Amino acid sequence: MGEEGKSGRPRGLGTRLTHAARDRKLTLGGVNPVVQKASTVIVESASKLFDPGGWTYGRHGTATHEALKQALCEIEGAEHCVLAPSGLMACILPFLAFAGAGGHVLVGDNVYGPTRRFVDRMLPRWGCEATYFDPLIGAGVARLIRPETKLIFVESPGSMTFEIADAPAIAAAARAAGVVSVMDNTWSAGVFHKPLALGFDLSVQANTKYVSGGADILNGAIHLNDEKLLVRLRETVADLGVNVAPDDAYALLRGARSLAMRMDHHQASALEVARWLEKHPAIVRVLHPALESDPNHALWKRDFTGASGLFSIVLNPMPTAKVHVFLDPLDLFGLGFSYGGFESLVIHCDPQLKRTASSPELGGPLIRLSIGLEEPADLIADLEQALAQVS
Ligand SMILES: *Cc1c(COP(=O)(O)O)cnc(C)c1O
Repeated sequence: MGEEGKSGRPRGLGTRLTHAARDRKLTLGGVNPVVQKASTVIVESASKLFDPGGWTYGRHGTATHEALKQALCEIEGAEHCVLAPSGLMACILPFLAFAGAGGHVLVGDNVYGPTRRFVDRMLPRWGCEATYFDPLIGAGVARLIRPETKLIFVESPGSMTFEIADAPAIAAAARAAGVVSVMDNTWSAGVFHKPLALGFDLSVQANTKYVSGGADILNGAIHLNDEKLLVRLRETVADLGVNVAPDDAYALLRGARSLAMRMDHHQASALEVARWLEKHPAIVRVLHPALESDPNHALWKRDFTGASGLFSIVLNPMPTAKVHVFLDPLDLFGLGFSYGGFESLVIHCDPQLKRTASSPELGGPLIRLSIGLEEPADLIADLEQALAQVS
């Protein structure tokens, strides 16, 4: 729809997401796009059968997918978007598209665990080597780039330990060497961080989290501006036969409509809870880049316009059994993986923390909280009663 309408005034994200994908071709006059379920798409004439620009087969998407992509491009400020059936698939598609036998990739040491498992288990089988780097390395990543390096993958902030990478410096090093740069941008929901504007080639999101907001869909997307990279990514998706169900695309678009407003709520509530936790005697540290006390605060302030609802706390040193004495009494926080849904969640991170290139000094058990849409005062009261068990 574009950044401005007839008034000439640049429109805010909430406005753009309300009006995205409202073309009559997609909606048939309804407010929402149609859910077009199709394997076969009947084309109008023989000359269109092999038309690469048109919809020809369900695997390559239908009107519903097109509608979702238009909305997602508004969020990330991207020209193009490639959909994937999960956030993890969106993370690994760039490796499959741009790296291969004889190649080398650089991966941030704090990336999402399943992304790391793909790098460790699958890439070696295709003869591709990986080097992990300290997420705080910044411009120093240039020293790790080899002639055969194809891709640099960064997640900022890391979704358990919340280091902020110096994104412009890493993107510039990648660009200077002709290496594809990829940012996993799931934490910011794309609302508070625009990796493409900071120089990254690709910005990836697990739409499973904030874009959905409903804790009921797995989906991912890769956002980009570069046409050449787009062709390669689209070919990779087509070669692999991965596709997204139109019902999921429809439901995700519904989630995206309210994303900007939800993120404001997640941000404010999480900060309120984080500030309360900072003062609690049972807690060593709160890892939340929007807190002035956080070592990543300055970089966050420079490159982000806000914070989502996900952060971690470090408890006073205690054995795992005692950590469970804190977690089990929580009433409003579900014990579960993921984040970005309407409901608050909590996990114990230590069993899944894997580092080989850096060692964050935590000083106690690491607990991750996802702040949902409950009232923050209720969440604080719940945390207070559970922390009392271990204080
Ligand atoms: C959840 C998540 C993913 C993977 O998304 P799925 O849809 O669960 O496959 C990737 N990266 C980050 C940072 C995530 O939080």
